[in-house]
Amino acid sequence: MNLATKLPVWLVKTREDMDRYLDEQLARLRTDHIDFYLLHGLNRKTWNQALDLNVTEFLDAALADGRISHAGFSFHDEVGIFKEIVDAYDWTLCQIQYNFMDEECQAGTEGVTYAAGRGLGIVVMEPLRGGLLTRESPEIKNAWASSGISRTPAEWGLSWLWNKPEISVVLSGMSTMQQVKDNLRSAHAGTPGSLTVPELAAFDAVKSVYRKRMKVPCTQCRYCQPCPGGIKIPECFAAYNDAFMYADVTSAKDSYDADTENGGSASACQDCSVCESLCPQHIPIRACLQKVVQLFRH
Ligand code: SF4
Ligand code: SF4
Repeated sequence: MNLATKLPVWLVKTREDMDRYLDEQLARLRTDHIDFYLLHGLNRKTWNQALDLNVTEFLDAALADGRISHAGFSFHDEVGIFKEIVDAYDWTLCQIQYNFMDEECQAGTEGVTYAAGRGLGIVVMEPLRGGLLTRESPEIKNAWASSGISRTPAEWGLSWLWNKPEISVVLSGMSTMQQVKDNLRSAHAGTPGSLTVPELAAFDAVKSVYRKRMKVPCTQCRYCQPCPGGIKIPECFAAYNDAFMYADVTSAKDSYDADTENGGSASACQDCSVCESLCPQHIPIRACLQKVVQLFRH
C-alpha cells in the first residue's frame, strides 16, 4: 500500500508552514513517511508564491530526511505554466485533469506528452469530467454503438485513458461496489494501444456530438492571449460551452468562478477589440463575452 497526500499550498504563508503542515499530516496519519507528497492544485500564482517561500528547498529536505518518498504536484492552469513547473524540479509525478473531451484543456495532451517525456508519472483526475461523461443521450448512445462494442459510458471514458502509454494512474470517484468492480474490470482490460480503429472512431463520433452543442466555436488556441484587459477569453468560452455541451450550468459556473477567482472574467472586457483581429476563427469575441456575462452573471 502507498500513501499519498498533498500540501495545501494556498494556506502556506511561510517556509515554516510547509514543515508544520507535513508534520501535522504525518501525526494525523500515524505514520513516519508519506510515499507520494503533492503540492496541491498549483497554478501560476500559487506556484510563484511557493517558489518565493523556498518550496523546492522544503521538498529537498523532506525527501532527504525520509518524511516523503516522492514529490509531485497537482495542477489547474494552462499548459505554458505547466511546462515551467515540470522543468523546475525533479518531480516523480504530476496529477492533472484529463479525459477524451479535455485534450486541449489545462495541461492537455501537450502537457501529458511533455511531462511523460521528462519521466514524470501521470496521475489523471476528472477522467469522466465529474461524471458528466457518463450521462447518455440517444445521440451519444448511437455514437458509442457505432463501434459495434457494448460498454458503459464510464468504461468508454476510462478505456481512452488506459489506451495511452503515458498514463500511470487514473483516479475515478466511486460510490457503489458495482462502480468499483466496473472500474477494476476496465483497468484490467485497458492496456496501452489496445483500442481498435472502430473504437477510436466511436470517440470521434461522440466528441462530434458534444461539439455540435458548443455555442462559441473557440478552439482554445490562445492566440487572443494575453488580452490587454486581462480577460481569460479561452477559459470564459470553455466554461460557457461546457454549460451547453453537458447541459449543466451549475458545474460550468463553478469552473468559471474558479478560473476567474483572481480576475479575468468576461464582465471586465474593455471593448478594445484587439482580440478579434487575432482570432483565427473570426469569433465576435466581445459579443460572445456578453453572453458569458448573461449566463454566469459576471
Ligand atoms: S475586447 Fe475585451 S477581451 Fe478583447 S482584447 Fe479588448 S479587453 Fe480583451
Ligand atoms: S483566438 Fe479565438 S479561437 Fe483562439 S482561444 Fe481566442 S477566442 Fe478562442
